[in-house]
Amino acid sequence: MDATHLAARTPRLDPDDAARIARTLWGVTGEVRELPSERDRNFLLETEDGRRVLKVARRGEERGLIEAQNALLHRLTGAVVRYRFPRVVPSLAGRAIETVEAGGVRHLARLVAWVPGVPLAEVGDRPAALLGDLGRLLGTVDRVLAGLEPPALDRDFYWDPAGGAALVTTHLDALPEARRAAVARRIEAVRRVVEPRGARLRRGVIHGDGNDWNVLVEPGAPAGPRVTGLLDFGDAVRSWYAAEPAIAAAYAMMGADDPVAVAALVVAGYQAEHPLTRPELEAVWPLIGLRLAMSVTIAAIQRSQRPDDAYLTVSEEEAWSLLERLEGVDPDHATERIMGAAGPGSVPALLERRRARIGPSLSVSYDRPLHIVRGWMQHLYDADGNEYLDCVNNVAHVGHAHPGVSDALSRQAALLNTNTRYLHENLLRLAEDLAGRLPDPLEVCYFVNSGSEATELALRLARAATGRRDAVVLDAAYHGNTSAAIGLSPYKFDGAGGAGAPSWVHVAPLPDPYRGRYRAPMPELGRRYAQRVAESVVEAEPRGGVAAFFAESLASCGGQVEYPEGFLTAAFTAVRAAGGVCVADEVQVGFGRVGSHFWGFETQGAVPDIVTLGKPMGNGHPLGAVVTTRAIAEAFDNGMEYFNTFGGNPVSCAVGLAVLEVIDDEALQAHAASVGDRLLAGLRELAGRYPAIGDVRGRGLFLGVELVTDPDERTPATRLAKRVVEGMRDRRILLSTDGPDANVIKIKPPLPFSAADADRVVTELDAVLRERVG
Ligand code: PMP
Repeated sequence: MDATHLAARTPRLDPDDAARIARTLWGVTGEVRELPSERDRNFLLETEDGRRVLKVARRGEERGLIEAQNALLHRLTGAVVRYRFPRVVPSLAGRAIETVEAGGVRHLARLVAWVPGVPLAEVGDRPAALLGDLGRLLGTVDRVLAGLEPPALDRDFYWDPAGGAALVTTHLDALPEARRAAVARRIEAVRRVVEPRGARLRRGVIHGDGNDWNVLVEPGAPAGPRVTGLLDFGDAVRSWYAAEPAIAAAYAMMGADDPVAVAALVVAGYQAEHPLTRPELEAVWPLIGLRLAMSVTIAAIQRSQRPDDAYLTVSEEEAWSLLERLEGVDPDHATERIMGAAGPGSVPALLERRRARIGPSLSVSYDRPLHIVRGWMQHLYDADGNEYLDCVNNVAHVGHAHPGVSDALSRQAALLNTNTRYLHENLLRLAEDLAGRLPDPLEVCYFVNSGSEATELALRLARAATGRRDAVVLDAAYHGNTSAAIGLSPYKFDGAGGAGAPSWVHVAPLPDPYRGRYRAPMPELGRRYAQRVAESVVEAEPRGGVAAFFAESLASCGGQVEYPEGFLTAAFTAVRAAGGVCVADEVQVGFGRVGSHFWGFETQGAVPDIVTLGKPMGNGHPLGAVVTTRAIAEAFDNGMEYFNTFGGNPVSCAVGLAVLEVIDDEALQAHAASVGDRLLAGLRELAGRYPAIGDVRGRGLFLGVELVTDPDERTPATRLAKRVVEGMRDRRILLSTDGPDANVIKIKPPLPFSAADADRVVTELDAVLRERVG
């Protein structure tokens, strides 16, 4: 092991030599300052074009090794955007590596761009996310470098963990006698755990020194401190991947209150970018101990050679103190915690992987996220087998994994799935069934794949039928995620990140009898709100008039609001009088959920011109529809074909038919009515006891509980609502909040939700409210 003769090989240079080299070979000038380093000499240059670092290698350093480092840097700077690495600056002669003379000896030199940031070593506050990011940085490096294996990195190198146990064993007597046993025990662990797994520990190029002086951080980043870059590839070597996070963890753990937790976070972060296998994860804990053992051993050897060089022993005492603390840690327990956090199915590892690969504009429910792996009717089960009562998933309308639906799906999927340009029974049966359940004159169907697509098509139909562009919507409404649907959704365009209503959209107030502009018991509430719709219609006149009025039949995202009597009929009359068409969005409330009726608009005695369907229609399979009148369908048929690749395919239609069949066979609409009444009564009883419950409302299994801080002012209790939902989650009841102020607890479970479930919800809600508001 070549840990010797370091002193003799260090380049003898001073800052003036460095300035001269930078000027003559790279044409850069600026103030020069020496930076600490173990083997090379590094000089920081403040040039006009920014900071540069001149790196002069020790005597005898192999050119191939420096070329290899440059190749790694080249690949990383080209492939990684999230983190920064030193970029190699070519010399005036266009060379990446130059030869320089110092004290009559030739050395290889490079100039690299400075990577901004504060060394992690200087960041005292290290939240869990930062430690995860450290692991993620190294995982990114190893993933990106995979396959790039310059032969020079397959080397005999004293920092290579694969040779570490032998190195430490050889030099054990260089250590103070009283401290040798702690080191020897780390080596025993390597012999017992790592070596037998040798063949199963994958190797590749690793950075090999993710210590906290080489990792750069932006401490004041808006979302909390984050890792920005990695320095010093001088220890890169082809070795065990498992050692990469172990090395970084060994340094990050120093001084931590709970070093095992730190290790688990670093490994989980690494796992998100470059997943380790089970035997590799089992090797991590002993490899952490090995790194510490190597660190104190190499420091002892080097100190005997260069007693005055403080950098060589930079973390020596901290390494000793951590080594001694590890004596008190049960290794099996540590490995269990690392595997628990980083194992492929654990929540932290899944979150890290999700952060790495899933668009960040999507939240995860609950402070303690759930890893749900199975569903059955109104129940969900997590990876540990815990049962949860699902009170929010109105998509799983007839129940999670209902066999009537899954069998129909798999049977048809095994037979045929194709587009709707062939004749097929399923398409026709589903269209006929839907039309049969809708009032006249709603009779022509289009099948789509989501509620958003249904909204999008409904807008096109309305525009085609009217020759106009504008739309009127209700405040706080949500109609979908496409460009046009977002334009129709005040919930989004007036919310975070929104840009306000587009010019073609006019917003009328949400007819909310509890907290809206007009409130019960004011007489003629429905008519008053409809009058506001009429005013929005007038607003559209100068722009050519209104094409469509979009309204959910009961408002969901708006806060589970049931409109005052007469609202929809009066609003529809006003819209039609002005030449517009009326769209009822039944994506959330249709298919019997409201109990008293099959469709939400029927509760108002209204008949729309276009209906949009989605969520429950496929019980989780992507299936939606638009149903309209013959006249509108004909106006839309202007020569341009409406083709939808997946919409209405035989599998989707088989699913749609199965859902309708289950609703009928299991009498789910009547069930929703009776269980909903029982739940409403229970919730109203709670409202009588807790002033924080301002309103309880809804129909069937579409209910809302509005929380307020002041019952007279009806001030939204947004924080309380969140705490209640989290408290219920801890009691394994899944709810969520909605409404423009996120203070309405929404209840819309799969319809098999039983009377006993209703009682369970009331009992637990009582307990949570008692804890929260006394
Ligand atoms: N309309 C309403 C009322 C909705 O609640 C939603 C979805 N939350 C949509 C339309 C859009 O449906 P999807 O997410 O299936 O595109």
